[in-house]
Amino acid sequence: MGFLVIMNNFNMERFFLAASSYGFALACYEEALEWAQERKTFGKRLVDHQVVRHKLVDMATRLTTTLALLEDTAYRLGKPEMQGNELIAQICMLKNVATQTMQFCADAAVQTLGGMGFMRGTKSERIYRDVKVNMIGGGAEEIMKDLASRQLGY
Ligand SMILES: Cc1cc2nc3c(=O)[nH]c(=O)nc-3n(C[C@H](O)[C@H](O)[C@H](O)COP(=O)(O)OP(=O)(O)OC[C@H]3O[C@@H](n4cnc5c(N)ncnc54)[C@H](O)[C@@H]3O)c2cc1C
Repeated sequence: MGFLVIMNNFNMERFFLAASSYGFALACYEEALEWAQERKTFGKRLVDHQVVRHKLVDMATRLTTTLALLEDTAYRLGKPEMQGNELIAQICMLKNVATQTMQFCADAAVQTLGGMGFMRGTKSERIYRDVKVNMIGGGAEEIMKDLASRQLGY
């Protein structure tokens, strides 16, 4: 019976990991944006370089799509009639999407911060080191996909 309790706990653990991954990704985006508006290279702010703006928009795009899935999952978790295999599969997919967003945003933020992104004291540097904990902890990406496929019946 103890194992059953642990198994049931996994869904909420994975949901919380996804929510925290979104928060970490957002912190990276905000730090990168602030830095890009401040730092000047070759006579321009970083944000005035198109390639930097595109990187920021790529981060914002992933954040927006992750938030939509996160909010939809939270809504379904609160509805007794929506519990079941499909919701478990959705939590698996959400965990993978959110941790991939964290990985992408941490990487893009460190790149945008340049040498500063390597320094202790920036949020992005700290979050970058934690990416793999969220991607592996509570069930690695491959395991999430396997579980989702079983819940969806294939
Ligand atoms: C910082 C940290 C804190 C943790 N805290 C806790 C905790 O508090 N409580 C707790 O119970 N656990 C905790 N864990 C354990 C965590 O849940 C496991 O590390 C995680 O589930 C992966 O299991 P594993 O380390 O045994 O890797 P493995 O199962 O050995 O997997 C290694 C790699 O092989 C892949 N793999 C394994 N099996 C398959 C398969 N069938 N098909 C395809 N690929 C596969 C995995 O995806 C992964 O990439 C923590 C882990 C970390 C890193």
